[in-house]
Amino acid sequence: MTHQLPRRMPLAELHCHLGSAVTPSIMWGIAHSQGIKTPTKDYWEFRDMITASPKRDHSFDGYLQLFHWTELIQSSPLAMERSVYEVVTGAYRKNNVTTTELRFNPMKRNRGGEQDLDHIIAAALRGMDRAMLEYPIRPGLIFCLDRAFPFELNEIVVEKAITWHDRGVVGIDIAGPESTSFNVADYRKLFRRARQFGLGITVHAGEAGTVEEMAQVLELLEPDRIGHGVKAAYDPRTMAMLRERGTVLEICPTSNLQTAVVSGWEEFRWIFEQFRLNGVKYAISTDGPEMLRTYIRDEMATLGRLGILSYEEQVQAAETSIAASFVPQVSKLPTFVLADAEADDRLEPATREEVEREEA
Ligand SMILES: [Zn+2]
Repeated sequence: MTHQLPRRMPLAELHCHLGSAVTPSIMWGIAHSQGIKTPTKDYWEFRDMITASPKRDHSFDGYLQLFHWTELIQSSPLAMERSVYEVVTGAYRKNNVTTTELRFNPMKRNRGGEQDLDHIIAAALRGMDRAMLEYPIRPGLIFCLDRAFPFELNEIVVEKAITWHDRGVVGIDIAGPESTSFNVADYRKLFRRARQFGLGITVHAGEAGTVEEMAQVLELLEPDRIGHGVKAAYDPRTMAMLRERGTVLEICPTSNLQTAVVSGWEEFRWIFEQFRLNGVKYAISTDGPEMLRTYIRDEMATLGRLGILSYEEQVQAAETSIAASFVPQVSKLPTFVLADAEADDRLEPATREEVEREEA
């Protein structure tokens, strides 16, 4: 029999992009409240434009294109405050995710310099502050650099993360597909500086990019975590590096299937088998729950139902996500005891069906 994680067990979502995490109806409201001319007057057409679906191509570029409208709509202080607030509180209500680490590139939210970067960042933090006043949660923000950006722009993103670190920016990331103009070695000093200021480091690697680049990232940037990293399963040397350094992989199964980085659940079965055999630590995340129409609990449930992860391994992955969080006060949240949850279901969040009815 497959056991599902008790819904009372709190979870940490370590890999979640703001551009793919806001419920489409809220996104629609934000667009209209700012007078943005939406490309269609039909809500359902709009919903299809910003969400992945089986009808849509499964490709990495196709997935990245979905962000065009979401990033544009989120490009103002008002939109950022509401978006962050809705994502971190929604994750708690829907899935008892008590820590969402929400990532975005502030430079992709300022309309090419038209909006002031600090206003955008302060608004995101205001959204987070409001959420923490209302709910027992500890979210954090991660700033994404982009492989397609020149070094000078990425450097500004890191400096902003350092400036706002005391207020709730907890880490930095590098996103975007491999690019010929991007050289990992150029970032060594900058990342060391970020680390000195207490920022956590995660880097998208071993996803659409090669395992060689992932090994280089591990060697030169010394990240605490790697976004995806599934390609490591094919390279014992990279898995040994992960094990020795205790680097945690943020695995987002549905995302990898949507982008065709992984061919199917059977390949995932093999990938997790390699991680098990090689002592690689991992957390389960969504990458973007609304765009990909999946929650962490759905990911865990599928992995459990297919027998890819045992119940104990699901618990382990949930614990790893909390232990590997960059948010400093996560340990101050009420600690969870499995036995209590099994004895007391009063505080269980709603089921997916109940949530969808309520949020519709
Ligand atoms: Zn990602």
